[in-house]
Amino acid sequence: MEYKDKKISCRDCAKDFVWSIGEQKFFDKKGLKNPPSRCPECRKSFRDKMEKGELEAQIKCSQCESVDKVPFAPRDPASVLCAECFEKKFREKLY
Ligand SMILES: [Zn+2]
Ligand SMILES: [Zn+2]
Repeated sequence: MEYKDKKISCRDCAKDFVWSIGEQKFFDKKGLKNPPSRCPECRKSFRDKMEKGELEAQIKCSQCESVDKVPFAPRDPASVLCAECFEKKFREKLY
């Protein structure tokens, strides 16, 4: 495979950044198939936020419609539950 610098626009700040050959090789070595979606700066601040636990996504509970915050964006926003409903459901399953 031939490597070439690639231009990608960041999904967070919408700025174009170059995905360098060195980085592409690094990704290949790690077996990562998808190119980065964020520029280096946004990647860094994203990582910082994750480490500090500041990363939150607002969700709307599919049961009681209350708005809650979760540390990560839900995989399935349509069936997401707030902490309360989640616990209720969890208990129902237990008994
Ligand atoms: Zn960015
Ligand atoms: Zn709920």
